[in-house]
Amino acid sequence: MAKQKLSLPVRIFIGMFLGILTGLCFLGSPEFTTQYIKPFGTIYINLLKFLVVPVVLFSITDGVVSLKDLRRVGSVGIRTFVYYIFTTAVAVIIGLALANAFVGAFPRLETSGAEYAATGSNVMDVIVGIFPSNALQPMVASDMLPVIVIALFAGAGILAAGEKGEKIAELVNCMSEVVMKIMMMIIQITPIGVFCLMCNVVAVNGPSIVGSLAIVIGVAYLGYLLHVVLVYGFSVRFLSGMSPIAFFRGMAPAMICAFTTTSSNATLPLNIECCNKMGAEPEISSFVLPLGATINMDGTAIYQAVATVFIASCYGITLTLSQMAMVVLTATLASIGTAGVSGAGMIMLSMVLSAVGIPVEGIALIAGVDKIFDMGRTTLNITGDATCAIWISKQERARAAAK
Ligand code: ASP
Repeated sequence: MAKQKLSLPVRIFIGMFLGILTGLCFLGSPEFTTQYIKPFGTIYINLLKFLVVPVVLFSITDGVVSLKDLRRVGSVGIRTFVYYIFTTAVAVIIGLALANAFVGAFPRLETSGAEYAATGSNVMDVIVGIFPSNALQPMVASDMLPVIVIALFAGAGILAAGEKGEKIAELVNCMSEVVMKIMMMIIQITPIGVFCLMCNVVAVNGPSIVGSLAIVIGVAYLGYLLHVVLVYGFSVRFLSGMSPIAFFRGMAPAMICAFTTTSSNATLPLNIECCNKMGAEPEISSFVLPLGATINMDGTAIYQAVATVFIASCYGITLTLSQMAMVVLTATLASIGTAGVSGAGMIMLSMVLSAVGIPVEGIALIAGVDKIFDMGRTTLNITGDATCAIWISKQERARAAAK
């Protein structure tokens, strides 16, 4: 009988399950797991961290370059961008509000006496710090906000350079592809990383941590649902003047595809087809939807907010209001930098965590069930893009009629 390879989510789940079982064996004497098993988990985390700068740098630069001509896409581009940023920020706020409402139900880990404090900073300092005074230093320090600014300028510069920028544009596009492939390789070793980290967490903390995963998944899905009803329902009804029921019925094939493939990119062709069938202008949907598949990730933003509060609470960190503002900013930007492929949102979560000083190892707590988060968040990601395509199409039709 031909051997069938297990899919990655199944392997990650098995890694988590075996990690929990092995951790239970070392309950009460976790020295072995801490000294000899956890370090392999740390290697996995290091690999995740090292990749964040190149992913953000190349995927955002490539995204800007793909707009082709800054002037031509100016009008549609700005409206699309504002819509995307606004809905994503609302998504993070919904995620944060819900996670804080349920924070009492989240566990607190044994952190071997170490006290973690989220690093808070003055809002003006954060804003000034976004603009780098040195091009390399933010990359060396993995300081993501200035890296994003560098990427935006690089993209704009490439476009402004016209013909001379074309070769660089091609190079950036190739680099972006190469970085994606590296990301795929690292994602492949997630089962081992999850096994090592989860084993140590359970050996040190006991099995109660496992039950809390169901709660954090429930909170994220509640956030997804609220965002669909409140934000997308409102947008479709009042901005586009369309019945939300007709919209969701028309979107069903793309939503099901997103839910099962957990990839916005893979769902893109179906999303374009669904939108065009519902009356979107083809030239609008072929611009707005690919851009959205790359930069607009409302579901990912909700997940990152919920996961950040959950992991913070596990480490005994209570986020202050200014740290929450930082989460809104970084999660909005992190979701822009997230590639539309399966599992990418979890990698970008490390950017949000490090921005507020939460240990990145915390990702291991939820990595074993990331697929479940990803199914919901990808479905939201592509639905948000579609609401924008329908709205901009309606506006463009009205403009053309007024001429
Ligand atoms: N899988 C998501 C998407 O393709 C990205 C993520 O992992 O959050 O939209």
